[in-house]
Amino acid sequence: MTDGQARDEVVRFTSDLIRIDTTNRGGGDCRERPAAEYAAALLAEAGVEPVLLERTPGRTNVVARVEGSDPSADALLLHGHLDVVPAEAADWSVHPFSGEVRDGVVWGRGAVDMKNMDAMILAVLRAWAREGVRPRRDLVIAFTADEEASAADGAGFLADRHPHLFEGCTQAVGESGAFTFHDGAGRRIYPVAAGERGTGWLKLTARGRAGHGSKVNRENAVTRLAAAVARIGEHVWPTRLTPTVTAALTELAALYGVDADLDDVDALLGKLGPAAALVEATVRNSANPTMLEAGYKVNVIPGEAAAFVDGRYLAGAEDEFRATLDELTGPDVDWEFHHREVALQAPVDVPLYAQMRAAVEEFAPDAHVVPYCMSGGTDAKQFSRLGITGYGFAPLKLPEGFDYQALFHGVDERVPVEALHFGVRVLDRFLRTA
Ligand SMILES: [Zn+2]
Repeated sequence: MTDGQARDEVVRFTSDLIRIDTTNRGGGDCRERPAAEYAAALLAEAGVEPVLLERTPGRTNVVARVEGSDPSADALLLHGHLDVVPAEAADWSVHPFSGEVRDGVVWGRGAVDMKNMDAMILAVLRAWAREGVRPRRDLVIAFTADEEASAADGAGFLADRHPHLFEGCTQAVGESGAFTFHDGAGRRIYPVAAGERGTGWLKLTARGRAGHGSKVNRENAVTRLAAAVARIGEHVWPTRLTPTVTAALTELAALYGVDADLDDVDALLGKLGPAAALVEATVRNSANPTMLEAGYKVNVIPGEAAAFVDGRYLAGAEDEFRATLDELTGPDVDWEFHHREVALQAPVDVPLYAQMRAAVEEFAPDAHVVPYCMSGGTDAKQFSRLGITGYGFAPLKLPEGFDYQALFHGVDERVPVEALHFGVRVLDRFLRTA
């Protein structure tokens, strides 16, 4: 059981980390080093020797290992990123890098994504050092840089260049999961992430015959591109259920007392009320056109036109994604992956998942813990290259009306002190039993 000091520390660490501005604007414009040094010092005080690693100066990652009592057990990786997305101070009620604690709430960029979890990990390890607690499995702790951009300076770099630090790790626990989802009808659902859709950011290129805008032109690159973009945007992707999404739908159907008819998933989603939002983005692949680049003058037909599409695919459905894109783009438009990340699928019929569920239920007896698949991605994708199966578990008990998912990358990102206290208790319990 965590003590009062752990509860004080988790709030102070969250607030302090928010005050260290680690805005990641992409393109290498970020400096995590001060936050990494802050976390490393707290680990060192707890007798956990950290290593600081950089691919690029200032883009610092912290890795440490807590030795478990059972040397034959696989190691568990616990990871959180140190960078945050940009915040426009003028839009906020409090300064996004103030870390202010006001009326029982910690305010600022990173309050839920994910300096809260970094602080919880630090508070738990320090409580363990005071109490002499040792985990059963080796715990590898990683605080990463660059998650909010390409991960090239963060988890990607660690996985590629320092795999030995993760030796023995078979499972990982990281970002996003076990927060309270209020369904508006009194149910408190805690989704635990057990999979992620893959990322396929696409560049489409249409080629044609350049010429004068007043002439007949049946090979207009802009027309070809626009047609392909419209076909992609309007395409209705077939449902493709992964084991995690199937488990999510089945458990939610039981919770709502409706028939889990997986042959008509859209109808089933319609019966789940607001809880459908937890699954609807992950029952099929998707491809949303987001950017267009073509032409430079109204009376000149360009020879080439380009578009960008944000594609996402489920585990096991990437080949179908590619084949469908070939079809939708047609013979006059080429497409390629501008950026590609793998889809993940993690089993939920394993002890680790049961341990996460039990830890939440112990401190939130009315909780309905359900697995879910993330529509986007986290550092778990990078660590999967080392054969590590990733879960999302950053426990937060949130009051009704507190829209966690809207605060992710949102204005007035904040987290209740009570939620952090709950989180540190649940994480402590989970890690003691893992
Ligand atoms: Zn995040």
